[in-house]
Amino acid sequence: MKELSTAISDLKLYADKIVRTGLVVGAGGNLSMRDGRIMYISPSGFDLQEVQDNQWVRVDIETGEVLDNLKPSSEVLMHLECYRKRPDITAVLHAHPSYSVGVSSTGHSIPNLFPDFPAMIRNVSYLEYLIPTTEVLADAVAEVIQETDVIVMRNHGVLTVGKTMKEAYFFMQIIEESAKVYTIASTVGVPRILTEEECQALRNLSSEKYRSELLKDSK
Ligand SMILES: [Zn+2]
Repeated sequence: MKELSTAISDLKLYADKIVRTGLVVGAGGNLSMRDGRIMYISPSGFDLQEVQDNQWVRVDIETGEVLDNLKPSSEVLMHLECYRKRPDITAVLHAHPSYSVGVSSTGHSIPNLFPDFPAMIRNVSYLEYLIPTTEVLADAVAEVIQETDVIVMRNHGVLTVGKTMKEAYFFMQIIEESAKVYTIASTVGVPRILTEEECQALRNLSSEKYRSELLKDSK
């Protein structure tokens, strides 16, 4: 019987949220949290809302050794790379949000259309399509994760990391909302994208304040 980590309650809360808010469908998507030298990650093939407390799979971050009997998510490699490259983060979230996948599949980037996006997200990395679950994808994630908290994988999904799961989830919501607004705007006309000066002014004004508010608690 393994002891129950406080990470488990956050994992349960956000596993439920990402399904309820439509960021993943069925058994798609996966999430993990760091707890010292190990991470807890969602088990492979489970509906995220049905994972029990003792079914989050423990994996040694340094060695990659699986410490439980259940199989970890098939994307376990890219989660491990995030923790290895980013000692500052404790949460990794991977989802398949419709608008982000749709917009990125056209080759377009998701532009700055409203203030929260540039204020909250320092930059977004885009990866060309790579086969999910492979070492090739994990290596591509490892290469860019030091410079970004948000990776959009064209024709696949989005990966976000955070100092808390709340932060990783918030980044996921913001990128998806931005892709949605861009899609809506593009059906009506040609959207005006915030200029670099406007984005910089927002970053100077709000980002530190917003970020510190966000990090106050982990729920
Ligand atoms: Zn995926």
